[in-house]
Amino acid sequence: MLKLKILGSSSKGNCFILYDNEENIIIDCGVKNTCQNVDITKTMGILISHSHLDHCKDVKEIKDYYNYKFYSNKETLDILPIIEAQKYVTEYKVPFEINQFKIMPFEVYHDVPNNGYLIKHIPSGMKILYIIDTSSVSNLHFKDVDVFIIEANHSYEWLFEKDELDAKDYRTYGSQGHLAVEDTIEFLQNNINYNTKKVILTHISSSCNDYLEIKNIVKNAINDEKIEIIAVNPNLKEPLEVVLKEDLNQFNFE
Ligand SMILES: [Zn+2]
Ligand SMILES: [Zn+2]
Repeated sequence: MLKLKILGSSSKGNCFILYDNEENIIIDCGVKNTCQNVDITKTMGILISHSHLDHCKDVKEIKDYYNYKFYSNKETLDILPIIEAQKYVTEYKVPFEINQFKIMPFEVYHDVPNNGYLIKHIPSGMKILYIIDTSSVSNLHFKDVDVFIIEANHSYEWLFEKDELDAKDYRTYGSQGHLAVEDTIEFLQNNINYNTKKVILTHISSSCNDYLEIKNIVKNAINDEKIEIIAVNPNLKEPLEVVLKEDLNQFNFE
């Protein structure tokens, strides 16, 4: 069984745990008390997208309980409170393996260096794509993705409704900011394929009156009953668990 446990996804904190019966990897650790929600003795690797606190603030807590490596670009690892031996510097488009997971890091576009990750769970063959905190995805193309975990931060419509933009708006909507749902949809329409089973929408802005509004915009645009669309509540109170792949019932001659 392959599952995803989401501890949070918004500008307040992001943390995703991908796990099977034997082990887990953590993707971003920007919420507090990560260790209380994951069996850290089974954590084989921690992938960090970038250096903003909503993606890495719990590193200082986790590092005392966790014996393996943190994976990210050099700029991010340089400012994490960890020793050299705990760092694995990733290079864009150079894959690496963490036990049962094969991982391809790639560049996404933010105001600091930021990694997206394509993750293959080798035993099940599931491919999971993780893209968060990026202003654009227009030059990214992927084949055979089963599960998209992707930002859908805001809508351009909200921008048109504003009379005046403040500094936060410029950060969000600018060329180094966050992904608008319209761009998320265009990307999904170009990258969804026969294998796609789920789309998990993340980092939804607090300016959104109701996060389910974002889910409905995507659901209507994708219009495919076979694909489950999940929007992560930016004010998540309890961890959200999603089954990505059930165990197969196997028959034996016994
Ligand atoms: Zn963020
Ligand atoms: Zn960020």
